[in-house]
Amino acid sequence: MSFSTLGLSAPILNAISELGYLTPTPIQAEAIPLALKGKNLIAAAQTGSGKTATFVLPTLEMLARSETQRKKRARALILTPTRELAVQVCKSIEAYGKNLTLKSIAIYGGVDYAPQKQALIDGVDIVVATPGRLRDLYTQRAIHFDEIELLVLDEADRMLDMGFIEDITKIIDTLPEERQNLLFSATMSRQVRELAKDTIPNAIHLSVTKKSEGKPNIDQWLVTVDKDKKSALLSHLIQENSWPQALIFIETKHGAAKLVSQLEKRGIEAEAIHSGRTQAIREQILADFKAGKVKYLISTGISARGIDIDELPLVINYDLPFPADEYVHRIGRTGRAGAAGEAISLVSKDDFKNLCMIEKRLDHLIERKVVEGFEPRKVVPVSVLNFVPKNKPVRDVAAKEARGRSESTKPDYSKRVSSKSKSSKSRSSSNNRSDNKESSADNKLPLNPWNR
Ligand code: AMP
Repeated sequence: MSFSTLGLSAPILNAISELGYLTPTPIQAEAIPLALKGKNLIAAAQTGSGKTATFVLPTLEMLARSETQRKKRARALILTPTRELAVQVCKSIEAYGKNLTLKSIAIYGGVDYAPQKQALIDGVDIVVATPGRLRDLYTQRAIHFDEIELLVLDEADRMLDMGFIEDITKIIDTLPEERQNLLFSATMSRQVRELAKDTIPNAIHLSVTKKSEGKPNIDQWLVTVDKDKKSALLSHLIQENSWPQALIFIETKHGAAKLVSQLEKRGIEAEAIHSGRTQAIREQILADFKAGKVKYLISTGISARGIDIDELPLVINYDLPFPADEYVHRIGRTGRAGAAGEAISLVSKDDFKNLCMIEKRLDHLIERKVVEGFEPRKVVPVSVLNFVPKNKPVRDVAAKEARGRSESTKPDYSKRVSSKSKSSKSRSSSNNRSDNKESSADNKLPLNPWNR
């Protein structure tokens, strides 16, 4: 099958052909013709499956057919969980829409409001936004949603995990009822299904999750090691293997910063991105990593989804995440679009229960290795695929706690900004609200029921 059979017009076909896209991925082949017919879609699709083009291409096609909107209006709204993903989706819009005159903007927290606000006031065709900041700007009347024709919820499960449900539902409540809806989610959790049921009537369900789950393309293995030897083992592996590049995942932002200095002490240069760093620094580091200037990037879960790094050969899990889906998203940064990838996990006894949940989720055991000189003193038990935890971890519990945590850790802005105007006060506190969501995602360890 070729893209020309999907119903896309020449300006878009030319742009994607220049990008070297020869054939549509399965989700693109299935979803694009349906989306172009105006259908509501709920798609189980992960990053790496070509999902961004799946919703961006029909969005561009449909918007290009009619005239650009007015001031303070937009015609398509794409909600994403993280700033990085919003920026990346916007870049895809620019690339796929380079032969069109549609305007798009990424709206996200952690940066100055003024330029985003002005761009919305001037009017754009497509808004790609994280829910918290968009809601703030809506409250400030920078945008009205009465001309929204199309809503895309990208990585819906991740947005819900991050506690954005209230922002999302409040935004959706203000959209015109007559609109098209596309929902993409790596997993179809109960929460996602509930959101979909309330938001997306008469949807067609599509699923390509299994096909893209990486087994054939991603060589997964793990090394058992004592927790206090992990950084030494990682340095050893990096030096032994001379890996050209690796994305290294770790649960907490403090852990990320510590690991950078531990690697540096052993002569390995690394960078870290997490919610404690400014947006500008995170963007710069990501750009440097994508350009190959940074070889080893240590990241908390906030970058696990959506971030697309061409030909990333290796993902390392410095610790094992909870829930198990997070592991799938992490390793999905490699082995993308048909390329081969490798995913290595450093597993200590503490990681055992998460390991069992991950292997159960994958439906296969991960090959184990021991590295000479790093044999664990605390043995990691043999894992079983039908593992049943004593206290069954419930995603909702973790999410609920994340929300509670983000509320309870909210600094008292009423005191700090008491001399400022009311509007700047509300901006500050809501900015803090969106940032806390990322920050609680970065401080995940205590949210993991196994680590309590
Ligand atoms: P995504 O799942 O949207 O994050 O896309 C994963 C990667 O696949 C990105 O680098 C895209 O540029 C690339 N991609 C998406 N669709 C295609 C296609 N049909 N052919 C080749 N590469 C693609």
